[in-house]
Amino acid sequence: MKLFAIFGDPVSHSRSPLMHNSVFKHLNYPACYTRVHLKDGSKLRQTFFDLGLSGANITVPHKEAAYKACDEIRGFANKVGVVNTIIKENEKLIGYNTDADGFIYAISEFKDIKKVLILGAGGTAKALGAKFLEEKVQVSVLNRSQKRLLFFQNLGCQTFTWENFTSARYDLVVNTTSAGLKDEELPAPQNILEDILHSVNYAADAIYGKVTPFLKLAQAKGLRYKDGADMLLGQGVLANELFTHQQLQKEDIQKAMQKSFEL
Ligand code: NDP
Repeated sequence: MKLFAIFGDPVSHSRSPLMHNSVFKHLNYPACYTRVHLKDGSKLRQTFFDLGLSGANITVPHKEAAYKACDEIRGFANKVGVVNTIIKENEKLIGYNTDADGFIYAISEFKDIKKVLILGAGGTAKALGAKFLEEKVQVSVLNRSQKRLLFFQNLGCQTFTWENFTSARYDLVVNTTSAGLKDEELPAPQNILEDILHSVNYAADAIYGKVTPFLKLAQAKGLRYKDGADMLLGQGVLANELFTHQQLQKEDIQKAMQKSFEL
């Protein structure tokens, strides 16, 4: 029996255990998935080995620490320095990022996305920003503080803090901050958000399982919006394929994982 886990702080909200256990159960894969509340990201590697895990997912705020914890990084995670999935291979930790493709899957119903504003500049923002640029989408980033914006400036994005933000027309605005996850905070001051939502077609939030204060504002403006549930499903299917070494069919994983959303 293989053991998998999600690391995060907070982590009690995470639906990943339900999703992955649903796949293991329905597809008879001998594995179990649990959650680990980890406060100190520098302890991730040791904790992974101490628990005898075969693989893990990493959520807020440890995705950048997870990148550092790995022996080898594969694929898109190399581009962003952010890891949300770890696989143990010959006693080495291999890091991947499935968030960005998960998000692109989630917004496939939103058409003609050419200009995006990302709220937040953490691990999720980096993954989405770099992926949008790959897809030739113009990316602007708004964060409450300056420090993490450097990454995006180096990629050629337009960046703002709350102090110097000037609104423009966007096709999509995405909240990747953790504002609203465990509180009722907005990801930016209300007047700034009102301006943004006034001239945007779609709104999305990476947070799932609730209508965040940000999505409530989008709802009040009559915008088309979605929470992070489909992103969660998208990244989860790709992570599960890695956990099970592609022994299961992607369509079967998706169907079994989808069942957990009905629980
Ligand atoms: P990080 O900790 O890496 O980044 C958090 C970002 O949010 C930073 O830019 C930080 O700003 C900003 N922030 C935090 N609190 C506030 C606040 N109160 N007001 C404004 N800005 C704030 O987190 P992650 O990128 O790993 O995760 C972000 C969110 O995305 C989480 O809620 C997570 O649950 C969700 N998520 C959902 C996924 C899904 O599958 N649906 C997948 C991945 C993430 P500063 O730089 O100033 O500190």
